[in-house]
Amino acid sequence: MSLDLVLGVDVGGTAIKAGAVDRRGRMVAKREVATPPGGPRAVVARVAEVAADLQREAGRARAVGVGWPTPLDPERGVVLFDNKLGSAGVNVAGLVSRATGRPACIENDANAAALAEYLYGAAKGAGSVVLLTLGTGVGGGIVLGGEVWHGRDGAAGEVGHVKVHPGGRRCLFCGRRGCLEAYAGAQAILKRYRGAGNKADGMKDVVDAARRGERLAVTIVSEMAEMIGMAVADLANVLNPEIVVIGGGVARAGEILFGPIRAAVEREALPNVSKGLRIVPAKLGNDAGLLGAAGCAWRRFGTSASSRTLTTASRRSRIASSS
Ligand SMILES: [Zn+2]
Repeated sequence: MSLDLVLGVDVGGTAIKAGAVDRRGRMVAKREVATPPGGPRAVVARVAEVAADLQREAGRARAVGVGWPTPLDPERGVVLFDNKLGSAGVNVAGLVSRATGRPACIENDANAAALAEYLYGAAKGAGSVVLLTLGTGVGGGIVLGGEVWHGRDGAAGEVGHVKVHPGGRRCLFCGRRGCLEAYAGAQAILKRYRGAGNKADGMKDVVDAARRGERLAVTIVSEMAEMIGMAVADLANVLNPEIVVIGGGVARAGEILFGPIRAAVEREALPNVSKGLRIVPAKLGNDAGLLGAAGCAWRRFGTSASSRTLTTASRRSRIASSS
């Protein structure tokens, strides 16, 4: 008797991570391959190879969930906007389903990470969650009442572009001034730090320098925490979440970051909003994207027998034509 499994796939600009995941979010097999050049069809072909390989090891999967690094419409499985892989307008869920022979769904990668922390990680059991991911830029996802909030065009959760300093530093991504990302994204921070003649391979070096008391690094890290705190306070005032989860490599820095963030939120958010609000590091690390993609597949295809043979898109058209 083989395990009841789905495949979760996290498609990034440089790597595709995939795993066979059970209903409780446990990964029983994992693969990582390079993202091929050649657009969405080449990427989907590679995903299908990895899916076949994983199923040879772990057994037949019920469905495939794919985290894709663009805004998208998860209901139709279609990408809405893409300046990374050239997949705008493409029905990626349909392509994956045809290539793997399994039902498939897609979810934005940052939203998938938020869903994963909600289902299996740091926010397990919470009703509403805001996730901030501190990477090259600052991404995020919002889970409200147990559902990912996508917004009208799949663009919700862009917490990196919350304004924390009108007229402030220019955002390297959107070009506007004063975005959170200009103060808390690794690309912006490293540019500033190296621009002053310092050496750093990554954010860890800047955080370590701050721990040693090096002046610019201390300024950068305390500004980063302050600006994250301001953004979290605003998000908390608007959404009143139970928990705010902060992920990405630098979130492992611990109290040097979380202490000042919590202090800023306490100072800036309404007292009834900040009281009892948990602000915690993410738990799932680099696996969050693929686990959330798997979670999306479990939610969509985990119960109905009919869904085993139909993609969401074809199921929708069936429903439409039978009514
Ligand atoms: Zn911006």
